[in-house]
Amino acid sequence: MSEVSAFIGIGRMGGPMARNLARNANTLGRRVRVYDKSASAITACKDAGADVADSLSEVVDGADVIFSMVPAGPDVRSLYMDEGGIFDTAPKGALLIDCSTIDVATAQEVAKAARERGFRMLDAPVSGGVAGAEAATITFMVGGEASDLEEVRPQLEKMGAKIVHCGPSGMGEAAKICNNMITGISAVAVAESYAIGQRLGLDPKILYDVVSTSSGQTNIGTRNPPIAGIVETASANRDFEPGFTIALMLKDLRLSQAAAKQVDQASPVGAAAAEIFALAANSGLAHLDTAGVFKLIAGNQPPPK
Ligand code: NAD
Repeated sequence: MSEVSAFIGIGRMGGPMARNLARNANTLGRRVRVYDKSASAITACKDAGADVADSLSEVVDGADVIFSMVPAGPDVRSLYMDEGGIFDTAPKGALLIDCSTIDVATAQEVAKAARERGFRMLDAPVSGGVAGAEAATITFMVGGEASDLEEVRPQLEKMGAKIVHCGPSGMGEAAKICNNMITGISAVAVAESYAIGQRLGLDPKILYDVVSTSSGQTNIGTRNPPIAGIVETASANRDFEPGFTIALMLKDLRLSQAAAKQVDQASPVGAAAAEIFALAANSGLAHLDTAGVFKLIAGNQPPPK
């Protein structure tokens, strides 16, 4: 096995993704080498068969495919473009795949710089959360050249269940943040509906029964309604243990608002959802699951009789 895939950023999402890649190293006929600037998930990656590098230059050494999964746009820009970063240290011609959720403008800027430096680059953000990353059921939304996606598809298939080519550079990020904006807005709509229903004295189980089979049906409302005791999968059963946190939803709603501004598209409901999630985060709910925005909306008062 002479070919090497590097994986940088083995946090909550990158860790399980890199482990799934490493577990399939033999099938793929390549080594998997990981690096993170903080050492948390290293043992688990070693156990899954990955080699562990102590530095960025070591992880990219001889790698023809390089994945990254870091928190935000500034982290991506710095990882790739800083002095001593990926552009300075990786073998020329390597295929770079950034899986972080970041703003479209930064994704496009970094991909353009990559091409100018003799690399190929895909943006490939994911949805499906930590559980999906562990079970290899995440969806990849990919922006960049279709031929580059085909080259790396066998590796993506070991980490996820669905791979969608969304168009040129930045369009993976565009698809991701447009999707998450719908989820964020839906979460607020669902929370408001259950809060109103509750105050009117409507049994939430009956509301669920109606909404989940009527025109108000949404993925988050059906899978993750904000009242305990209705559906087993709901985070409300576990005091809104995440899942996808309010902090991450706020980040994605801010990204969709930045994108709307970039193209001068009005997005009043998305803007309101972003502000509501900011209020939730500022009220100490940032660590809760997205459906926990209900706590902010409904407040603590018992519903009137
Ligand atoms: P995380 O903070 O758990 O992991 C990020 C890792 O990147 C950390 O371990 C950090 O040390 C490492 N890192 C940052 N800069 C680095 C650098 N220059 N060199 C080496 N390592 C570096 O974050 P996460 O939850 O795994 O999220 C990663 C991305 O995935 C984010 O963009 C997030 O929005 C997106 N995402 C997260 C989820 C989720 O449910 N957590 C779901 C979908 C998408």
